[in-house]
Amino acid sequence: MSIIIGFPRIGENRELKKALESFWAGKLTQEELEAVAKELRAKHWAYQKNLAYVSVNDFSLYDNVLDLTYALGAIPERFKQASGLELYFGMARGLENSVACEMTKWFNTNYHYVVPELSQNCDYTINPSKIVSEYAEAKSLGYRPKINLIGLFTFMGLGKITQDSSFENVFEKVKNAYFRLLDSLKALDSDLVIQFDEPIFSKGKDERFYGKIQAVYDEIVAKKLGKIIVTTYFEHSNEATEILCKSRIDGIGLDFLYGEKNLSSLKAIAKSGKTLYAGIIDGRNIWVADLAQKLDFLEKIAQEIPKENIVLSTSCSLLHVPFSKDSEVKMDKEILSWLSFAKEKIQELELLETAFKGSLNASEKQKWQENITINANRKVSTKINDKSVQERAKAPIKTQREPAFKDRIKLQHQNLKYPILPTTTIGSFPQTPELRALRLRFKKGEIKEEAYHQGIQEYIKDCVAFQEEIGLDVLVHGEPERNDMVEYFGEQLQGFVFSQNGWVQSYGSRCVKPPIIFGDVSRPKPMTLQWITYAQSLTAKPLKGMLTGPVTILNWSFVRDDIDRSAVCKQIALGIADEINDLQNAGIAIIQVDEAAFKEGYPLRKENIPVYEKWALECFKASTSLALPATQIHTHMCYSEFNDIIKTIEALDADVISIETARSGNELLKVFAAVGYANEVGPGVYDIHSPRIPSKEEIKQQIKLLLEVLPKEQLWINPDCGLKTRKWEEVKPSLKNLVVAVKEIREEALGR
Ligand code: GLN
Ligand code: ZN
Repeated sequence: MSIIIGFPRIGENRELKKALESFWAGKLTQEELEAVAKELRAKHWAYQKNLAYVSVNDFSLYDNVLDLTYALGAIPERFKQASGLELYFGMARGLENSVACEMTKWFNTNYHYVVPELSQNCDYTINPSKIVSEYAEAKSLGYRPKINLIGLFTFMGLGKITQDSSFENVFEKVKNAYFRLLDSLKALDSDLVIQFDEPIFSKGKDERFYGKIQAVYDEIVAKKLGKIIVTTYFEHSNEATEILCKSRIDGIGLDFLYGEKNLSSLKAIAKSGKTLYAGIIDGRNIWVADLAQKLDFLEKIAQEIPKENIVLSTSCSLLHVPFSKDSEVKMDKEILSWLSFAKEKIQELELLETAFKGSLNASEKQKWQENITINANRKVSTKINDKSVQERAKAPIKTQREPAFKDRIKLQHQNLKYPILPTTTIGSFPQTPELRALRLRFKKGEIKEEAYHQGIQEYIKDCVAFQEEIGLDVLVHGEPERNDMVEYFGEQLQGFVFSQNGWVQSYGSRCVKPPIIFGDVSRPKPMTLQWITYAQSLTAKPLKGMLTGPVTILNWSFVRDDIDRSAVCKQIALGIADEINDLQNAGIAIIQVDEAAFKEGYPLRKENIPVYEKWALECFKASTSLALPATQIHTHMCYSEFNDIIKTIEALDADVISIETARSGNELLKVFAAVGYANEVGPGVYDIHSPRIPSKEEIKQQIKLLLEVLPKEQLWINPDCGLKTRKWEEVKPSLKNLVVAVKEIREEALGR
């Protein structure tokens, strides 16, 4: 028998998203929302019926870390008045007088969890009702449930300890609550199966709790709840596995796809006699498994561990892949045959299990043969392989701009003549309902290309006119032709394909539909040139061309697994380089290469970071280094943490970098000053995530703070990020205030 770590919860047609948003809008009652959720769970379990267990408590109305926070009663003080769903959603989305808990990325995925705020002064009144009722539901439908629970260490490791508390004290409190929660589950069944998800062990040793792992899990075993499985994923977890082998738990789950080094734990597991839940079907990517190769791999494992002690599993929860290929009716049939989404992955698991432990019947043999054929065809497909791209990527590539920044920047200043504290924006302007409607009509074929282009041009014209009118120094075209900064480029690059319904949950009700990179990537023709040059033709001021960088395009896509990610990234970089070349040849003197997702690709383990940094950096530089000395290259990154990557940021050698700093005053900028960062920097002076209009005074205050850290010659003034999610009514006064604030600062503080 095999298992999955967990199943996507958003629904085949995003039913949960729709129900949640209706509920929040007051159009659905709580009972109706819960009915939708119940129906989804039943439907999702049906797909799992041939597995050893169905996963219970992997479902969530918002986020499963938040579920545990709620179940443990780890409620921050400011939410104490609320209860039930109001409290639950309040922690995720904020209540009238209480700001939401922070949200951040779940390890190195694009899923976001709600960060627990843990205090030693909280009473941790547990609430097991969600687990209890979902367990009962699964039982009543005749399934054998496996309870999914985020492990204590992962929960503690991801939580934020409040100022009034120490890690040690909080750990004790949370542990007690966690144990009480487990005790309350005991009545559910005489032999529960509980899977404790401990992906935090994949990050390596954490001194705060390494010494406690064995004792905690032995204490859990001593509760005699049933079968105890501890699962890690996203990397190898050898250090923790060694400890877990000494504990009395029943089974250990390991990821052999993203943590091949887990192989070195096999001997210890064999010796311990524990069951190995072997994560062998990729839970994070969407390619059909090469079953013959997987079978070989399993046989290798079986040389160490008896077959009866091996249970096949997905490498992690299937949360990170779309639901099913069934609705992909438009995709190229050959490419579609290479894909496998959640539902299909369960079938792969079952077939592989049969081949490994039993014998294939006639129809299974046929499926096996089909799998072999698909994989063989994929390898040699002309759709994937483009000799000219491969040749070009093999040749040496220039990755260093010349001359050095200090010489380039002089030239750029001479040409561009922007004033001190130049003002600009990050690129996008409001995506209005009219703009979305226009794009939709064009995509549906309701209007001709000409009419669409005309609509886009009108937007650009208005956008440029507005920027001129208020007196910004460096203008943009506003990105009206893009609904998404990666999709727009993916659609024009060879080697990309888009699903119709391949949605993956990003957070709460929000889903993303990542592009799929299936083959060699190239740029057949210019992607942005016509819009940018049109915009530049409307103004005498410099207009900044806007591109998405190679690392961000890579990190926000499903990437082919037959060559190295770094090789794919390099191909994208060459496509972007071509675009930069076309832009500068057409007279565009400033080009921004956005790397919003640069940091997301960082490996979980410290020891792997240098390799990633090296190739990611090289790819960015390969895309920008053919810029002429006078061409000013900007980049933009939207994080609030640069301390650990500042050296890499510096090495990007962008002439100007704009960053998200508004919410942290000048704190974030200090690290730039500390390392002696020499290139120009545009720290965001107001937060674009909120509809609030910043006053002139407030922006002036913010600029003064920035001037305390970096010299005026080095600073640009801009908002935190793109403005596409805002309304014109918000953007117009905000940017006006920004420009006036800068003018006044120039006069008052700098005397010009
Ligand atoms: N140029 C993009 C925009 O303005 C950058 C967005 C981002 O960093 N996420 O929308
Ligand atoms: Zn941004």
